[in-house]
Parts: sequence; structure tokens; C-alpha cells
Amino acid sequence: MTAKTMPGLHHVTAISGPPQANVDFFTRLMGQRLVKKTVNFDDPGTYHLYYGNHTADPGTILTFFPFANAGPGRAGPGMASAYAYSLGSGVFDDWMGRMAEQAINVDGPTERFGQRVITVADPDGAPVELVEVEGDHGPDLDGFHSATLWLRDIGPTLRLMTDVMGYTEAGYETKKGEERTRLVAPGGARGAVIDLKRSDRPSTARQGAGSIHHIAFRALDDEDQLDWRERLLAAGMQVTPVIDRQYFNAIYFREPGGVLFEIATDPPGFTRDEPLAHLGEALKLPEKYEAYRKRIEQVLPPLKVRRA
Ligand code: ZN
Repeated sequence: MTAKTMPGLHHVTAISGPPQANVDFFTRLMGQRLVKKTVNFDDPGTYHLYYGNHTADPGTILTFFPFANAGPGRAGPGMASAYAYSLGSGVFDDWMGRMAEQAINVDGPTERFGQRVITVADPDGAPVELVEVEGDHGPDLDGFHSATLWLRDIGPTLRLMTDVMGYTEAGYETKKGEERTRLVAPGGARGAVIDLKRSDRPSTARQGAGSIHHIAFRALDDEDQLDWRERLLAAGMQVTPVIDRQYFNAIYFREPGGVLFEIATDPPGFTRDEPLAHLGEALKLPEKYEAYRKRIEQVLPPLKVRRA
């Protein structure tokens, strides 16, 4: 097979506590748009909230399962431990000032591979990283810069991502008992960077509020996704069949370091069932749950979305 490369991240999915605090933080403080309000397809009594840029482009999509009674999660080896947004250098200082004033918990700036990074804690204490990038990216967060995978041994993940997924090693840094190997997907799409992190700090990963459940990479269409599936199967990965997620088709596999990876198609996208101007306003249900809409709406906590 000829070599092939992933463009970058499609979305990141995390677990949160009560949904209202989550919506307020991401729409007001982070300036993201709630682009889809639906339910967990495996547990329709729980929301599935999608945030993104105005046009809900792949590479900007952050999704949450807000479990009202979720216990606290903990980052550790075998888990994606952080995601980072890109922030243009012209507005980075403004954002830093605003976060210092309005966010509960802000850390930094620190420097990572020559770029400034500030870390803002979300309502569940999970890190939201903002990375300063060169060029004009507008006044808002410009989708994902990267995700960090915390691994016990980076070797097997590094080999999969460079040999099969088309990533290139782009740097190595060690700081305060932490090693970081940077991988970049060529092409300059959003979310093209993946950092593989090894830490001396002992921790046992636990899924819960504030932890990242999985990260999803982009496939351009169904055919591209099936081709990736064949390549990953050939590389020994246990890949699920294609699953219809309403706004994209998905396949999942656990990479050798233990992190759950997904590959999601760009089409059909978030305007599949509501127009761009009204994304995220109505509760959207997959066909199989429409008959239970009344009951589902009674169980879900009410949500107020205020514009940033
Ligand atoms: Zn996903």
C-alpha cells in the first residue's frame, strides 16, 4: 500500500459534570458555538453537546457527555490528557488578560516547542489549552491545535502513527519530569499536531467528569474511511465496523498505548438536520428515539444557551 496521511483531528469527546456549567463555560468564556444538542445514542437520558466554530467545521468540534452524577475523572497513561485550541498571536495577550479576569483557574503562559501556552480549567477542572500561533486567525479560538496522549511507553503509538497514519516526528522536549514527542500531520489542517507524553508522575487513568473519552481523526468521505479501516486492520488493530453517528460515520479502535481513537467522516456534517443559522437550538434525536421525545425531554435537565 502506498503511504497515506490523516489531515488531523475531527473532534474530541470528553465527559463533564452538570451540563449548564459546561454550556456557560464553552459558549461564553471560550466563545464557542453550541452547534448540536442531542443525546448520548447509547443512553438517551443524557445529553450529547457539540461545540465548534460558527460553521461547525471538522477540527473545531469538541463534544461532551454531561453526566449529572459523574465522579471525577483522572488523567493518566493510556488516555488523551489534554486538547489545545489555536489562538492567533495578535489576540493572545488579550485572551490572557480576559482569562486572568474571568476564569476560575488559569496557568501560564508556559512555553512548549517555542509557542506560548496558557491552560484554563473548565468547570470540571479539566485543562483547556490555548496555544499561540503565528498569523491572523481572527479574534476567536481557531479550532484545535493539538491533542496530548499520555502514554506509559510512547514507542508503539509512535510507530503506528508514523508508519500507518502518516504523521511525522517534529520535535522532542523534556521538562519537569515530562517528555513530549511532537507528531505533525502534513497539510496544515486544523488539529494536525499530536503530542505523545511520558511522565515520571505516577497516575492511574480513570474516566469521569473532566476526562477525555476519545479523540477522532478525519476521513474525507466513506471510501477514505473504509481504506483507513483496511490499513489499520492490516496493522493489527481491532477496528469496529462503521457506525452511523448521524453527523458522521465512525470507526473506533484502541491504539497500542490504550487511547481510544475514532476516525470520523467529514460528511454529512452538522447541517444535515438543521440550517446553519439555527445549529444547536433544537434538541435533535436520532430516528429511533423520536417516538420517546416527550419522555426524553422530561428527563433531560433544561439548558439555557446565552450568546457570548
Ligand atoms: Zn467521537
